[in-house]
Amino acid sequence: MPRISQSVRAVYFDAVGTLLFPEPPAPVIYAQIAHQHGLPISAEEVRSRFWAAYQEEERADHSLQWRTNEDREQQRWHRIITRSLAGVADPEACYRELFEHFARPDSWRLATDAQDTLTQLQNRGLVLGLASNYDHRLWKVLAGFPALACFHNRVVISADVGIRKPGREFFEEAAQRVHCPASELLFVGDDRANDYEGALQAGWQAILLDPQGRHPDVRSRIKRLAELLE
Ligand SMILES: [Mg+2]
Repeated sequence: MPRISQSVRAVYFDAVGTLLFPEPPAPVIYAQIAHQHGLPISAEEVRSRFWAAYQEEERADHSLQWRTNEDREQQRWHRIITRSLAGVADPEACYRELFEHFARPDSWRLATDAQDTLTQLQNRGLVLGLASNYDHRLWKVLAGFPALACFHNRVVISADVGIRKPGREFFEEAAQRVHCPASELLFVGDDRANDYEGALQAGWQAILLDPQGRHPDVRSRIKRLAELLE
């Protein structure tokens, strides 16, 4: 069973899929927008197109050695949205609507056990941070969630850093923010390659959030955030 080891002084969390979730789910909202633009497509079909487009952008970033910036993030989402909704009458309008949709706090929900878990970890004296492969929209989203104000100036966004997870420099930037050596840092996230393996490769400790039990071979994993308190 994973526990937070005594040596940990600071814990960084991933944002999307760990603390924050699109509500309604992304394929549902994509399908709604597609319908409004003349493409009758199911959320299931969107999900499969989205996943293929998303993976292609992951490969593109890998070939760029994980370099990123605001332009690259907009390009990523433009490609993912237009591929997911291929066949709509006005792909540019769909892109703008969806890009803006996910900049609004009311398009997101907080994990049900996030607030209590964060408060209790803070009460134990741990420094908390947020480290996300996202863009400037995350600032607008965070402004709508007072429970996430505990991260203060320890919000690390890949488009600002110039390198995204799992790039080593991303984790080094996060470590500098809290003035801790890598060995005293823990990363908690839902993405095996970007969060869990990226953190381990940077010398951090790591716990994978694996709510559906997809990674039985990962030694250190939890199904719910509240398990961090055990
Ligand atoms: Mg995630």
